[in-house]
Amino acid sequence: MTNLVTNVQSSVEARPEAPAVVYDDHEFSYEEFWAQTGQFAAALRDRGVEPGERVALYLPNLPQLVAAFHGALRAGCVVVPMNPQYKSREISHLLSDSGATTVVALADVVPFVEEVRDDTDVENLVTVGGEADAGTPFREFLVEDGDTSVTERADDDLAVQPYTSGTTGQPKGVQLTHRNLASNAKQSMDIVPDGLQPEDRKIGVLPLFHIYGMTVGMNAALFGGATFYPLPAWDAEEALSLVEDAELTLFDAVPAMYNDIVNQPNPEDFDLSTLRQCTVGGSGIPIEVLRRFEEIYPIRIDEGYGLTETSPVTHFNSPNWGRRVGSIGKTLEGIDARIVTEDFEEIAPVDEGPVDEADYDMDEITGELVVSGPNVMKGYLGLPEANREAFTEADGKRWFHTGDIGYHDEDGYFYVVDRKKHMINTAGYNVYPREVEELLFEHEAVADAAVVGIPDERRGETIKAFVVRRPDSDVTADEIRDYCLESMAEYKHPREVEFVDELPRTTTGKVQKYELVEE
Ligand code: ATP
Repeated sequence: MTNLVTNVQSSVEARPEAPAVVYDDHEFSYEEFWAQTGQFAAALRDRGVEPGERVALYLPNLPQLVAAFHGALRAGCVVVPMNPQYKSREISHLLSDSGATTVVALADVVPFVEEVRDDTDVENLVTVGGEADAGTPFREFLVEDGDTSVTERADDDLAVQPYTSGTTGQPKGVQLTHRNLASNAKQSMDIVPDGLQPEDRKIGVLPLFHIYGMTVGMNAALFGGATFYPLPAWDAEEALSLVEDAELTLFDAVPAMYNDIVNQPNPEDFDLSTLRQCTVGGSGIPIEVLRRFEEIYPIRIDEGYGLTETSPVTHFNSPNWGRRVGSIGKTLEGIDARIVTEDFEEIAPVDEGPVDEADYDMDEITGELVVSGPNVMKGYLGLPEANREAFTEADGKRWFHTGDIGYHDEDGYFYVVDRKKHMINTAGYNVYPREVEELLFEHEAVADAAVVGIPDERRGETIKAFVVRRPDSDVTADEIRDYCLESMAEYKHPREVEFVDELPRTTTGKVQKYELVEE
């Protein structure tokens, strides 16, 4: 039986009384948690929800989300995770495109579902009361003595269908199978030093509607019999206090969260000595942020790389095989990666990375990163054109185009230069914003920074930096410009610098560059 949820069942059988999910004052043992998922599965069946039907979860990181996720899988349904910050306009496409028949939502957002419900197939709307009913989830939805069995699924049956964030058009439904997610959760357990252990305690601060928090966070913890600590909203102080109080051992976060941590007034006040691994991914972590974090705390940040379409992790810098700062790591077992030209010709590795960009013709060594493996999605839902563009069949493998530009080295480490679509073309030169951003982060007055290309009549695009200054700094735009000019070619330096209080970011910490361009 390949239903993903049987991996949780194995943990229940191995350690029924061990804590599975801890939230606030609530602690659910594996046995209790498994009972909740059974009740949810039984309630779905009782309402006639069939295997393969879509169950949309419109919830923040609460234990109810964890139980509904695995309960829906138990009934053979496909989970459609939705960002709890979305409003009716945003959920409308997700609900109608996925054909979801059940929605589980926090009471606050139920009106958004009601507003669009007539245009969807939603039959069951399950309201969750929030923090107050964490101990007795889905009270009004449950049935007595229902069918709590685990529905059999095939490897290629869909398990979860997240949506891309849709920064360039409508969000696309990413079809992930039981095999996709099981393989990646297993690999996420293997990247932990000496493997994830049942005694591990993992923070759940990454949003669970996003694949990073879902697979690397929640599923890896529960499949490995460890304890998972979901937190509904990001707050650096709250997260660090939880690490200290609950003596957490594993911490997953995106670069923006690590930047918040090092930018706190007294980051050294927190004792994080129980942590044995911190992971980062979702976007490249500025080397300066990593360096500062590791100066303050006695723990390394291990960087990985992935996408929603790859369930997500394809590369990682695990201590189990060594790390290289500035690299996204090596491919995980069973995953292949190549750097290719537009014509899908393989680009050879450099001797050793990361390279100094001044010493190389970057156009020669870089190309698009493509990947192949058991974690790569079945395809986008109902989008034949997008699927044609996303995949290339070659050498007996199906390669997924990541849309990221990078290079690799002889030792098998890969390096992401930037996203293809972020490239700035200024006066005929190609500039990747990340290189300029890395330099800005090294300036002592800079707390946060993002670089974009602004349409310009003469140059095509001109480079503009948005900078958040440290509270005690009065650095000027001219000083920032001069600082960049000292260290990089003239055509790469930001001609415009604007100071802002904060950068627009997605819930997963990515800078919404299109908003900066539109300003
Ligand atoms: P959309 O594809 O709709 O824009 P998204 O950015 O939210 O949405 P995700 O699947 O969350 O999509 O992000 C995948 C992307 O994140 C990768 O293609 C890559 O650009 C970036 N990324 C992830 N990890 C890293 C990393 N370690 N270094 C650099 N970039 C990374």
